[in-house]
Amino acid sequence: MGLNPSALALPAYSVPDVMAELIHDSLPYARFIAGRDSGQLTVRKPEPSSISAVREVSSRVGDAGVLSGADLEVLALALELKRGGLSPAIVSDDYAIQNVSETLGIKHASLSTFGIARKFDWIYYCPACFRKYTVENAGQQCRVCGTRLKRKVARKEKATKRVGHCKR
Ligand SMILES: [Zn+2]
Repeated sequence: MGLNPSALALPAYSVPDVMAELIHDSLPYARFIAGRDSGQLTVRKPEPSSISAVREVSSRVGDAGVLSGADLEVLALALELKRGGLSPAIVSDDYAIQNVSETLGIKHASLSTFGIARKFDWIYYCPACFRKYTVENAGQQCRVCGTRLKRKVARKEKATKRVGHCKR
């Protein structure tokens, strides 16, 4: 989403599924590759057992349906890093990721913390009958046909830049 791993003061980690989601020849892709090649960004696939652990927690808190494969991998890798003695923070503006990371006791930070002025809005919808839902229905089932709801990015918009404000 525009975060430059090479500009971070701390080591950065990501997962293969996130790399697969990036559009080739885009700036985020170029930054991802440059970060990986310089050693600043470690791309690691989490163990299946970590993914199962995250899946279990997310189904308990009701966010399993809205987490993508990449989301699950990010959370699972953070869990592994934490178990390995590190203190990871997940950078994401996604509500479901923040919710599950809190349940796992993993820190999270929003993109605005890093000065990224781009916001993603999610639309929740039924993949079977295409009815639209709001964020309150995240993780639930379609009221009409019972299919588990999915989400997609509605639009990217420039968020208002907060000047002179620091969260930390
Ligand atoms: Zn439906």
